[in-house]
Amino acid sequence: MSGDLVDNIQRDYLEIITQVKTHLEYQKALGVRFIEDPVRAHATPLREIAKNEDARPALVKHAGKKEDFHETAERVNESGGSLQSLALSDVRIELGECTRCKLHKGRKTIVFGEGDPNSLIVFVGEGPGQEEDEQGRPFVGAAGQLLTDIIVKGMKMKRGDVYICNIVKCRPPGNRNPEQDEIEACEPFLIKQFQAIKPKIIVGLGNVAVKTLLKTKEGITSLRGKWHTYQGILLMPTFHPAYLLRNPADKALVWEDIKKVIAEMKKLSQS
Ligand code: URA
Repeated sequence: MSGDLVDNIQRDYLEIITQVKTHLEYQKALGVRFIEDPVRAHATPLREIAKNEDARPALVKHAGKKEDFHETAERVNESGGSLQSLALSDVRIELGECTRCKLHKGRKTIVFGEGDPNSLIVFVGEGPGQEEDEQGRPFVGAAGQLLTDIIVKGMKMKRGDVYICNIVKCRPPGNRNPEQDEIEACEPFLIKQFQAIKPKIIVGLGNVAVKTLLKTKEGITSLRGKWHTYQGILLMPTFHPAYLLRNPADKALVWEDIKKVIAEMKKLSQS
């Protein structure tokens, strides 16, 4: 190859990298925290994606999701892009710099959620605390470390293999519980997140999350450890990690709940 040709290829290559970097920075500025995997979305023939559930990177095969893959393939065909991550980023874009409730006045950052947009399992907390508000990421403070331990040490998964979000996406002042009007303003976006991710299992963390999802006044102590459903998705209520920091003896109960979740995930992966 001539020196000129090599120089041209290098220049083109650098140009492409610069354009990709600019595009990613723009997406980040919009609040997008994840992008589709172009190899999975485009390089794998759609017929193969539909046939081959192992194309998914998740810890367990995404059992029972065949129809979703067909649907994904069809909609990918229509739109020329991948469905699930795109849909989640669309939800983020629709949320925008939200001012739908009073929580926007005190927040630094919207904490939309993070993790695998195709995850089989979604963890739902209450709302961002101070650390989360600073970083724009869910569960990154002390309670977040405990949740990460549950996922990594207990479930033997990577934190990035699950999806983590909250009932409200902005920090309530002084970490008070979110109020009903704030929950109602935010819930449509949580529902859309579930519609985009299509999880098979939700783990509801603590009273606020579980009471909101199940529309009940019953407390977490009696709800936890038993399977419920939310919009057709299996829901396991358990104690909030922040509660566990104050009541470490109850970690054993959470482990009992998580073991049920692990067993269900195994079942799903075998069906
Ligand atoms: N507590 C929550 O409920 N959510 C977070 O993101 C952090 C702490």
